Amino acid sequence: MMKTEDKQRMREQFKEKIDYNELMNCTRCGFCLPSCPTYLETNQDEVHSPRGRIALMKGVVDGYIEPDESVKRSIDMCLGCRACEPVCPSGVKFGRLLEQAREAIYQNNKQSFLTKFIRNIFFKRIFPKQERMIDITSLLGVYQRFGFQRITHTLGIMNLFPETMQMMEKVLPEVPNRKQLKNRQRYFPPIEKTKKKVAFFSGCLMDTIFMETNDATIQLLQYAGCEIVIPDLQGCCGALQGHGGEREQAKKMAKRNIKAFEEAEIDYIVTNAGGCGAFLVDYDYLLKDEPNWHKRAKKFVTKIKDITSLLVELGFDHLSLRMDRQIVTYQDSCHLKNGQQTFIEPRKLLQSIEGVEYVEMVDAGRCCGSGGIYNLLESEMAMRVLDYKMEQAKQTKATTIVTTNPGCLLQMKLGVEKEGLSHHIEVVHIADFLLQAYENTYIT
Ligand code: SF4
Ligand code: SF4
Repeated sequence: MMKTEDKQRMREQFKEKIDYNELMNCTRCGFCLPSCPTYLETNQDEVHSPRGRIALMKGVVDGYIEPDESVKRSIDMCLGCRACEPVCPSGVKFGRLLEQAREAIYQNNKQSFLTKFIRNIFFKRIFPKQERMIDITSLLGVYQRFGFQRITHTLGIMNLFPETMQMMEKVLPEVPNRKQLKNRQRYFPPIEKTKKKVAFFSGCLMDTIFMETNDATIQLLQYAGCEIVIPDLQGCCGALQGHGGEREQAKKMAKRNIKAFEEAEIDYIVTNAGGCGAFLVDYDYLLKDEPNWHKRAKKFVTKIKDITSLLVELGFDHLSLRMDRQIVTYQDSCHLKNGQQTFIEPRKLLQSIEGVEYVEMVDAGRCCGSGGIYNLLESEMAMRVLDYKMEQAKQTKATTIVTTNPGCLLQMKLGVEKEGLSHHIEVVHIADFLLQAYENTYIT
């Protein structure tokens, strides 16, 4: 039960943080309802729909709805997938409203010990500090390579953890060692002549746990004719923090990145993670109340480009790449699709490969249930959303599922593991898949 003074404080925060004009843009038409995974998974409960969430936010601000646990629950249950945005005829930016509502709730509300612990560890202690990401990844490497993982499984220690974490541990890729993590090259010439000069946004998770995919991305860019610089003062994009109600922390991280990239004379800033890219392109909105930073952010966002868009621009889909015969399907990254409007390019690239029979999955654009750390905090809903996704993936008979975001990659791997299909279905990032196709065709 929330105390009266807590409720009052929360209402004040809703009034202060939430963009009332954006709330007013909603005409309550309901076009967004069929696109919302939580609405569909709760038997069409309006409280768990975009329209319902907007009505709750407005009701709290206007003073006719009590800001109680049920309001918090509705906001917590949102995946933040933004599938409600492209279908909205009024152009409501729901993702922004969600971030503002979460900030109003989490900066002023008592949380359970576990929630506080997870939020603090992830949002403030690990992701903003790349050195810590490296330390943790190195430890994970020791755990994987020196027999600790086998011992843990034999003794059943993992059974003490929630089921989602047990499965997550199984599907994590083999991570690089400390030396590889520390010695990152910062400049890469193109293989032939320079078509574009780009800076690579290497990210936090992508440059540690998924370092191989970052390396594949850089190689692809070189093959495509890019000269690449990797500014070393950059850090995590701040998406997890921004989506999770830690907007002040996210602003600090945004400023660090703007500073790190603004000296580089480049055509584009390239990302290979849909979640990061969508947050980076919204830095100008995040910093809209700080005129100087807003100006710098505006310049920064015009340069953001997803790897798939750049490869198509550079004609990578006309290279007649080859792969072994296989059925391939693609799981959209919600934020690449709904935040950056990039969904044709990954398909174009996959369909251009000889040997690939591309089969579109029903509802490929519907969230897989990853949602940053949503699958750890709201495991039950995340698993329901994932089960639906796996049903659709199985219908395609694909042996390869391609994704464009680390969260989706792990979540889809988890789905494959859960279904007992890990011997039949591979889940890969598009950069790894394209590099393999390029090397099959031109190198070997
Ligand atoms: S589609 Fe847009 S305007 Fe219509 S109810 Fe949903 S958010 Fe509101
Ligand atoms: S962000 Fe996703 S889960 Fe949240 S309201 Fe929109 S469609 Fe539903």
